[in-house]
Amino acid sequence: MTITPVRDDCIFCRIVAGTARSHPVWEDPDTLAFMDLAPLATGHVLVIPKPHWENVFETPAPALGAVMDTVKRVAHAIRTTIAPPGLGVYQVNGRAAGQTVFHYHVHLIPRHGGVSLDLHGRRRADRDELDRVASLIRSGLDAPGG
Ligand SMILES: [Zn+2]
Repeated sequence: MTITPVRDDCIFCRIVAGTARSHPVWEDPDTLAFMDLAPLATGHVLVIPKPHWENVFETPAPALGAVMDTVKRVAHAIRTTIAPPGLGVYQVNGRAAGQTVFHYHVHLIPRHGGVSLDLHGRRRADRDELDRVASLIRSGLDAPGG
C-alpha cells in the first residue's frame, strides 16, 4: 500500500506522525486505534488507516479490510475490559452524514441503551482518564497475530 504523505491540516495525520497527542490503544503498520477526545461513553475508540483517505469512497478495499481487522481486535478488548451491554460500530461519510474529521475513521462506542446515533460528545474528557481507559483496553488485546 502506498503511504500518502502526511497532511499538516489533518489532525489524524498529525496523530499518525506523532506531532499531535493521542491516547493509543493499538498500532500496526497499516492502522491506528486511539481514544476519541470527546467520548460519548467510556471506551469510545476511533480506528483509522494510517494513510490519508477522506472517506469510504476513496479508501482502497485492502485498507478498509485492515481497519476492520483492528476494529474486531479492539471490539473484543472493549468487551473484555469494559463489558458494555452493547457496542456500536459506526462510520459516516460527508458533512451531511455527521463526518467532522475528513480522514476515514470508524467509531467503536460502548452503548448502554437508547437509540441516539449522535457520534460526537459535547465536552472534552479528562486526559488522565483517557490514558486510564486506553491502558485498560490495551490490557484486553490479544498479542499481534493472535
Ligand atoms: Zn489525514
